[in-house]
Amino acid sequence: MSPGGTRPRVVIVGAGFGGLRAARALAHAPVDVVLVDRHNYHLFQPLLYQVATAGLEPEQIARPVRAVLRGQRNFEFRMTEVTGLDAPGKRIVTTDGPIAYDYLILAVGGQTNYFGLDGVERHGFGLKDIPEAIRIRNHVLRAFERAMVETDAERRRAWLTFVVVGGGPTGVEMAGALSELIRLVLVKDYPRLNVKDVRVLLLEATDRLLGPMPARLREAAAETLWRKHVEVRFGATVADYDGERVTLKSGELIPAPTLIWAAGVQAVSLTARLGLPTVRQGRVAVAPTLEVPEHPDVYVIGDAAYLEVAGAPLPMMAPVAIQMARTAAANIQRRLAGQPPASFDYRDPGSLATIGRNAAVAYIRGIGFTGFPAWVVWLVVHIIQLIGFRNKLFVLLNWAWDYFFYERAARLITTMD
Ligand SMILES: Cc1cc2nc3c(=O)[nH]c(=O)nc-3n(C[C@H](O)[C@H](O)[C@H](O)COP(=O)(O)OP(=O)(O)OC[C@H]3O[C@@H](n4cnc5c(N)ncnc54)[C@H](O)[C@@H]3O)c2cc1C
Repeated sequence: MSPGGTRPRVVIVGAGFGGLRAARALAHAPVDVVLVDRHNYHLFQPLLYQVATAGLEPEQIARPVRAVLRGQRNFEFRMTEVTGLDAPGKRIVTTDGPIAYDYLILAVGGQTNYFGLDGVERHGFGLKDIPEAIRIRNHVLRAFERAMVETDAERRRAWLTFVVVGGGPTGVEMAGALSELIRLVLVKDYPRLNVKDVRVLLLEATDRLLGPMPARLREAAAETLWRKHVEVRFGATVADYDGERVTLKSGELIPAPTLIWAAGVQAVSLTARLGLPTVRQGRVAVAPTLEVPEHPDVYVIGDAAYLEVAGAPLPMMAPVAIQMARTAAANIQRRLAGQPPASFDYRDPGSLATIGRNAAVAYIRGIGFTGFPAWVVWLVVHIIQLIGFRNKLFVLLNWAWDYFFYERAARLITTMD
């Protein structure tokens, strides 16, 4: 019986990729669904870098949760911050009081991992939510304004040096988009600027970009970035950052007031406060059926969950969260019907990374391809996955406009800090 109602209550924490899909998957189940998030919107994180590089407005990649699930009759939304869990009492603790559950799905996602580099955390830029993307956009555009009035040549070159750290998909996409913003668009806004003073560096600690992809695709990505004027540096480990200079482990100093950190991700810090067993990256260890072994009414999915398949942990990526959501929702229904839960079976849909206009790498079902075809696949996949017809339409229009007119509409500096 529901806490106070007639039907079992499923509380889902997090309206990201996993939580939203879980709520939808329970639309016709004999349960009441309460979805809780500290924000009132679902965010499509894979396109955040385009907000950071002035290509899209935030509202084009986010959508209010209440609008997304408006038609679902067994659904209720609560905007509040979850701060703890009382598993024996079957309640979550929030800043607005406890919420009781019969079944709980935790889909609380991840946060940037700075690996204890306090200077990077304090002075660098993470890219995990809308305010951070807007901060990067403001800062990059302001760096150009500062460079225009800087009389000292060395200082001017520093203002025009942009360091991106991390050679995974986010770092690769961010570096490519930043270089194109500068070389295709900002050069027109700043005709007195010497473009030779501009540097975009992509620092990667290992000897490869896009780690899990085949060597041919990794090399193609690096080559494309070089062609787009991104200096790719392998074996470059960041040791410290003071907001003015990046210090590498080798002792090399790179003067740069801009450092964008795309080198690590971990589960949100909340997972450490729930009394659940956490393992690598603060992720909660779950059984193959996605429950927490000691608490069979609690499911953890997506970035916050740790599950190994064939000896390797599942990646912190949207398809894992989406597929786990379906399994968790199905297992709750199976339990209500007195059936045993099913194990999670991950189907890898492949991986994609774009490197600016007409360029991408794709690895799908063992087939790798690059260039324009991969870029088109990337565009189609992202448009399909965006939530809401309005967002799909506006993003498509924006991309078409930028493609044909070499523009980025959103290059506004919106704060003075
Ligand atoms: C910049 C960037 C680019 C990415 N690109 C890709 C990509 O190209 N392809 C891909 O597959 N994956 C990509 N990812 C990863 C992908 O976004 C995540 O794997 C996915 O979002 C995980 O889904 P989730 O449901 O676990 O968490 P999320 O989608 O992060 O959702 C978590 C939700 O929980 C809420 N929440 C967290 N803590 C609390 C709390 N205490 N109280 C209330 N609510 C809370 C948050 O507000 C959020 O809405 C990218 C991520 C980033 C940051």
